[in-house]
Amino acid sequence: MYEAATCGCIVIFKKTSQISTSPDARYPASANYASWRGHQPFRNRSSRIVYPSVAIKTGQEMTQSTVVISLDLELCWGSFDLSFDDDLLKMGRWTHDVGTPNLLNHLTRNGISASWAVVGAMMRPSLPDLSGLPEVSYPHFSKPWFSYVPQEGHELTHPEWFGASLVEMIRSAEPQQEIGFHSFSHVPFGRLGMTRERAVAEYRYCARIAQELGIPTTCFVFPRNLVAYLADLRDAGFTCFRDVDKLPVRFASNKLTSVGMVLADFAGLSPRMIEPSLKEGIVSIPGSLLIRCAAGWRKYIPDSSRLRRLRKGLERVRRSGGVFHVWFHPENLYAEWPRLENVVARFLEELGVLVRNGDLRCLTLGQLASEFRSQLAAKQGCNLSPAYTEAGLADFVT
Ligand SMILES: [Zn+2]
Repeated sequence: MYEAATCGCIVIFKKTSQISTSPDARYPASANYASWRGHQPFRNRSSRIVYPSVAIKTGQEMTQSTVVISLDLELCWGSFDLSFDDDLLKMGRWTHDVGTPNLLNHLTRNGISASWAVVGAMMRPSLPDLSGLPEVSYPHFSKPWFSYVPQEGHELTHPEWFGASLVEMIRSAEPQQEIGFHSFSHVPFGRLGMTRERAVAEYRYCARIAQELGIPTTCFVFPRNLVAYLADLRDAGFTCFRDVDKLPVRFASNKLTSVGMVLADFAGLSPRMIEPSLKEGIVSIPGSLLIRCAAGWRKYIPDSSRLRRLRKGLERVRRSGGVFHVWFHPENLYAEWPRLENVVARFLEELGVLVRNGDLRCLTLGQLASEFRSQLAAKQGCNLSPAYTEAGLADFVT
């Protein structure tokens, strides 16, 4: 439920030679990245291939007008380390019983597909064996990470922590929704106290659950958007991740940037459109706009300003092209309910009309990443996996 404000700089390099695509297009061939002169992968002492940590774009113009919606579904997992009380449990239960079904209904009745990034630990009816997870110890939360989680609990007794039935409901919805991962246990990556071993184990647990449930390891959303250990994420088989937001204004100080973003919400400032790029062999898809929750002081952000920003984004993407990437948490609909749900419902209705009129299209993160890779490969003139052809993609466009 929190947005990060980390900085990243994108560098674009010119193509210098042909690249090839891996037969399994989910896994990038190292040759793809070797073709960018001066940024070739190399082997380190442990013979592991190291990819350049720069962003690579297809070099083509803007993506055609596209809206992407990503949702971080986390119940109580999202903030128990910051504040744990009855209100959090109530919010988790409400999101399980009311918030998620309502939001799914708004999406489907408007014919819209979204990417649901779900905390892996809540995707099963109960917790798996946790012994393979190295412990973390953060300055802000020094207890064992699963201290508050009912370890013998399950969805019937603790719907505020477990949501296997929600995943099933989302999977069987029409139009098809995408299920991604929001880590396994919502540990903040890239923070003091986090280790690479735990990050790799989190990815491994997610991949195992994906296999158990029969879903692909496509998109990943980092808790609090703290992006880290990208090469390991790629090696775990994920194809794309949500990167930090492209903000209308960004200051040297993260605090100032946060204040600027709050003011942008109050003023209803136009959000920025984004473009996918490649970072360490995985597709980076930054956010354009977070629909902030209405808890605490945020309740003073007028609903009309929130809707104005969303409408400006729709208008901008319709007129100028590119990708308008909206994201939020189903949990965000709880505070001041039904204020935010009404804003979201209105936005989805207007988006649905634009999609039906052919003014723009709506893709999931995975679809956008596939298209990006396909265009990158096409620019190099190599053969594509059928999964990445335009025709294949068209089947998924809503
Ligand atoms: Zn989260």
